[in-house]
Amino acid sequence: MKTLMHICCAPCSIVPTESLRRQGMEVMGFFYRHNIHPYSECVKRQQTLEQYSRKIDLRVIYQEDYDMEGFVRNVAYRESNRCSYCYHDRLRTTALMARRGKFDYFSTTLLYSKFQKHDTIRSIDESVGKALGVPFFYQDFRTGWKTGITASKELGMYRQKYCGCIYSEKERFYRPKTDRAKITDRPKI
Ligand code: SF4
Repeated sequence: MKTLMHICCAPCSIVPTESLRRQGMEVMGFFYRHNIHPYSECVKRQQTLEQYSRKIDLRVIYQEDYDMEGFVRNVAYRESNRCSYCYHDRLRTTALMARRGKFDYFSTTLLYSKFQKHDTIRSIDESVGKALGVPFFYQDFRTGWKTGITASKELGMYRQKYCGCIYSEKERFYRPKTDRAKITDRPKI
């Protein structure tokens, strides 16, 4: 069975890739770039994945363009709900590629992260899969959360400190003077 797996970053890909391979699946990765800002950060994450995928013999398709402007335009004035747009665009793009490449399933490493909105991702995945006629492979990869962290540290991987978009970078590092203690519920990685 061939699965196209959307990969958000190398550290998050360790557990899902190993798990799917253990289940006998042939896995190919897809790295989506529009939501990773700024560009130098996107390149850093991509290079980390390139190194890791060579090491484990994983073929990965890298999105060629970098439409940061389109991403920002699409979430403008609804920044507080931007993750739904972001998940949907990443997963729809993956499903379309899976359909074109005649994959049996599509999936995502977003299902590994404890910081992401797991149930929202699952529901978007399922509806995108139904609409496009590509089966979505669901698994709760969060059970391997600690294993993945340990493995990525042992491999000396670059581990980013924020989710991806420029808004998440601000939320991770900026604290207004009047509200230093405020903690947002946005995903960190
Ligand atoms: S916080 Fe993460 S999931 Fe949400 S919009 Fe930004 S990159 Fe996408």
